[in-house]
Amino acid sequence: MATIGFIGIGKMGLPMARNLIKAGHDVTAFDLVEGALAAIKTDGAAVAPSAGNAAKDKDVIVTMLPAGKHVKAVYENDLFGAAKAGALMIDCSTIDVETARAVHEGAAQRKFLMLDSPVSGGVGGAEAGTLTMMVGGAVAAFEAGKPYLDIMGANVVHCGGSGNGQAAKICNNMMLGIQMASVAEAFVLAEKLGLAAEDLFKVSSKASGQCWSLTTYCPVPGLVPTSPANRDYNPGFGATLMLKDMRLALEAAKQTGVETKVAARASKLYDDYIERGGGETKDFSGIINLVRANSK
Ligand code: NAD
Repeated sequence: MATIGFIGIGKMGLPMARNLIKAGHDVTAFDLVEGALAAIKTDGAAVAPSAGNAAKDKDVIVTMLPAGKHVKAVYENDLFGAAKAGALMIDCSTIDVETARAVHEGAAQRKFLMLDSPVSGGVGGAEAGTLTMMVGGAVAAFEAGKPYLDIMGANVVHCGGSGNGQAAKICNNMMLGIQMASVAEAFVLAEKLGLAAEDLFKVSSKASGQCWSLTTYCPVPGLVPTSPANRDYNPGFGATLMLKDMRLALEAAKQTGVETKVAARASKLYDDYIERGGGETKDFSGIINLVRANSK
């Protein structure tokens, strides 16, 4: 069994660290917010006074942090100086590709093995250990990390070199953000045309409009049991996280010169939903309510 330092015991980090403990690993946890550590301590983790201390002498270090600036700071200021030679570092946070590659570079210079492995599947997937893990990094690092990734996820995909896990994550979520906007607009149009939501669902869930936003996360209540629409749009996948990922995708598109006009419009919808529609605490599928409010 391995010794694992786990940094960032938030909504996702807590169940992911818990699954590593359940699999028999020896986990030491750190979070800036002390209160976040109480639950993982009860589950059997040791609690460290700093990120560096959590990483010291560990075989594996996992981070699950809010954004690129946190990841960069924690690796550069705490982890690189504290980890033992040859340690494996796995960053599961969703961050920009550029920062991910810079952190990989820092790890490589110090001869650490490193993976970026953002996840998809939300808190439910983290609890069940069924996350999709999109992994970037060298083959040797992937082989070393696979046993741990398999505990936290059910669909572990090596996407290529450093930063490619992040690239997969933002491309996937750009599709998701656009698809949900399209489904929301189509259902509001159906309402206006006198077409029952049930009938549109029966048609499109088996026809060419079919997509995950329709069949798993339908923004109209009562059509799909798994949909946050059935629970007053409580997340699920929050609109703020959707907006974060759309912005990461748009920034990457800007840097690479790719035209993403549709993604830019969809992103604006999530922005408006959060700013004007009360969406900051709601699931991203709640944009259907903004579309409805914006329609005559
Ligand atoms: P969260 O805010 O609940 O957790 C992040 C944790 O990191 C917090 O507990 C915070 O105190 C801690 N933290 C921040 N800076 C730190 C530091 N310097 N040292 C130690 N701890 C620090 O966020 P989350 O929902 O768990 O998401 C984590 C990451 O996973 C994000 O990048 C997010 O985009 C991504 N993600 C989230 C979901 C989801 O459904 N919540 C789904 C997929 C991906």
